[in-house]
Amino acid sequence: MREISHKLAFAHDTASARYGDVFDPNNGGVQARVTLGDAALLDRVVEAAQKAQPAWAAVNPQRRARVMFRFKDLVEQHMDELAHLLSSEHGKVIADAKGDIQRGLEVVEFACGIPHVLKGEFTQGAGTGIDVFSTRQPIGIGVGITPFNFPAMIPLWMSAVAIATGNAFILKPSERDPSVPVRLGELFLEAGLPEGIFQVVHGDKEMVDAILDHPGIGAVSFVGSSDIAHYVYNRGVAAGKRVQAMGGAKNHGVVMPDADLDQVVNDLCGAAFGSAGERCMALPVVVPVGEKTAIALREKLIPAIAALRVGVSTDAEAHYGPVVSAQHKAKIEQWIQTGVDEGAELVVDGRGFTLQGHEKGFFVGPTLFDHVTPDMQAYKEEIFGPVLQMVRADNFEEALALPSKHQYGNGVALFTRNGHAAREFAARVEVGMVGINVPIPVPVAYHTFGGWKRSAFGDTNQHGMEGVKFWTKVKTVTQRWPDGGESGDSAFVIPTMG
Ligand code: NAD
Repeated sequence: MREISHKLAFAHDTASARYGDVFDPNNGGVQARVTLGDAALLDRVVEAAQKAQPAWAAVNPQRRARVMFRFKDLVEQHMDELAHLLSSEHGKVIADAKGDIQRGLEVVEFACGIPHVLKGEFTQGAGTGIDVFSTRQPIGIGVGITPFNFPAMIPLWMSAVAIATGNAFILKPSERDPSVPVRLGELFLEAGLPEGIFQVVHGDKEMVDAILDHPGIGAVSFVGSSDIAHYVYNRGVAAGKRVQAMGGAKNHGVVMPDADLDQVVNDLCGAAFGSAGERCMALPVVVPVGEKTAIALREKLIPAIAALRVGVSTDAEAHYGPVVSAQHKAKIEQWIQTGVDEGAELVVDGRGFTLQGHEKGFFVGPTLFDHVTPDMQAYKEEIFGPVLQMVRADNFEEALALPSKHQYGNGVALFTRNGHAAREFAARVEVGMVGINVPIPVPVAYHTFGGWKRSAFGDTNQHGMEGVKFWTKVKTVTQRWPDGGESGDSAFVIPTMG
């Protein structure tokens, strides 16, 4: 059986390792096994990173940027290969896998401009003969712990900025689709990145705990589900690290009575069912405002959902493919049952879906609930599958309150033709990323990505200037160059520049 190993700066014998299964979601079989690392391995990885990092930090920023330029070029050349590899382990369709890689590449493009971004601040004459300047220096060794659902984009959100700012970066990707992260490591080397600056270690909780406790690691960026994000945040911070930890989501799409419903249905189908709903910026909740809107929307949604094509991930005509594992499929179907038990109306049932010739694949059909209410557990929790829940609201204020009061606050969208309502909504909603007639408002790479409430722990977002801030520490130098003519008396009060 194919074995997926760590990508390390040194030779490593995996004979005594633990292993995890990597499935083929299209067929349900095991296609490879991945080596799972432990604390002893991590010690060696951190040592290799510590050896390599000072020289990398000393490379001038334009040379570090040139590695990013070459890496971007290489990923583009290997786009098809990477997309197929990604799709074969995750199950998302090829075009969507390319989007996953492209959104990561956009952060690499941002990192190509790192010399400009790292320029720092300078004040001449902050006091008599005194100048002050601030520079950003790398943290040293940073780690990224990433989820299964974006095996290219999320590792690149973190690594591109961490590396360009002069850190050594260790990636602990999801053990469910580990191959693309390893390929990215190979391409970084080919692009001219020194050995030890980007390493990949595979593992599960054992490895994550070792990372959180390791004294040689200065910063940990995590993306995954909220309970684990919270745990990672607390344990990492307790060990004195800088931690950002992004969690789960339950994004709402609010539909005003004046919205273009055909456009809304188009947008909703893509945002609720694309990637089988396995996106932290998916739109699994739709909130029509007013009875008339709800009736008209439902009427248009039912045939649009019936027209969705679920297929294997290499089917160019398929709208979405299988979910990532048998366990996740069972969990989604259990949530559908919970929705039924709680009294929501199951309008379209995606359970029991099979694809001819792929009966063991992890497929879930598109599912629609109506009359979902905020007290239902199936509404409160993230399902992370192709399940759309309709929660009816009587008016704008009621609709605004739903995403604002929800435990998650990652993304939200408003569909309307009314500029005043849009402005009001964007200003008042308690959610980190807002789309106005944009169903999946994932910010571009030079802005920053991050949710509110239980969707993110810590105070810095991913990529853009927030990413630069996370992966660097500020050093402020106050300097004077006396000419020797004025020694004066010792000062026993706090110095002022007055
Ligand atoms: P997950 O929480 O199961 O896994 C994330 C990472 O944590 C993986 O690397 C995994 O190996 C590790 N891990 C798993 N169990 C652990 C444990 N008990 N202790 C320590 N580490 C552990 O998440 P997932 O299923 O891979 O990804 C889906 C989740 O990620 C969803 O909740 C989704 O909303 C969320 N997500 C959030 C964002 C965001 O930016 N907010 C982006 C993508 C995905």
